[in-house]
Amino acid sequence: MIKVLVVGVGGKMGRTLTQACAEADNATLVAGTEYPESSLLGQDIGVVAGIAANGVSITGSVGDAVSAAEVAIDFTRPLVSLATLEACVNTGCAAVIGTTGFDAEQKAQIDAAAKRIPIVMAANFSVGVNVCLKLLHDAAAALGDDYDVEIIEAHHRHKVDAPSGTALAMGESVADALGRDLADCAVYAREGDTGARDGQTIGFQTIRGGDIVGEHTVMFISTGERVEISHKASSRMNFAAGAVRAAQWVARREPGLYSMQDVLARD
Ligand code: NAD
Repeated sequence: MIKVLVVGVGGKMGRTLTQACAEADNATLVAGTEYPESSLLGQDIGVVAGIAANGVSITGSVGDAVSAAEVAIDFTRPLVSLATLEACVNTGCAAVIGTTGFDAEQKAQIDAAAKRIPIVMAANFSVGVNVCLKLLHDAAAALGDDYDVEIIEAHHRHKVDAPSGTALAMGESVADALGRDLADCAVYAREGDTGARDGQTIGFQTIRGGDIVGEHTVMFISTGERVEISHKASSRMNFAAGAVRAAQWVARREPGLYSMQDVLARD
């Protein structure tokens, strides 16, 4: 049984992770944290997640909570996740990071932590999305530069970063296959006198509204035909189950920064 800490256990993903741990055969939730002023402190993690009480109360200190765990799972905000990694490095705890929206400097801090502890990080922990990333790479390599690439993503109204980490990962997969650097070829907005489309660009369109869990479509558009690869998530459980699978995989690995592709390839 892998002992798991969930950071941000009262969040949308945190609650789903509690359910996923309860359903997993070889993971047990031993601790959960929220921010120090949260009204959820002291409440039972299971009750907060809407399942049976499990006798573990939510606490406000990741430094204390991490000492009880073998793997910390964190789907929160970039600065919170960096603090989680610092606590993990201090105790030798492994980490699964699902938070999106890190900037380049923050990513460098994650790379540094991965020299000390094993970390799985993915913009999307769903098995289906990770299969899509491979399909996209194959499709882009076969279709080549003759097809214009546009990526459309839609999420719920509370999401704070755009485009989604998954859309960016899809863009990176396509750019890699086409020998392009996404930082140079991404177009995130079009307005006014844009001129004709540059065939070397990869366009992103973002939709936000309601309770959409997460939808992504990549279009390869040529004259006379269009190929679309789509993924639609209807429940957060697919992300949570993937993260728990990653937690089981990463516990007791050598230090390093691993992806969900590594988890799926080797377990
Ligand atoms: P959310 O806002 O519902 O949950 C975040 C939780 O973190 C909140 O409960 C908040 O109170 C808590 N938190 C804030 N500060 C904290 C602190 N100092 N210590 C402990 N907890 C703290 O958000 P969400 O929809 O669950 O998404 C969280 C992140 O996960 C986002 O970055 C989102 O993009 C990402 N996400 C990733 C995947 C994936 O598969 N990688 C899937 C879904 C969401």
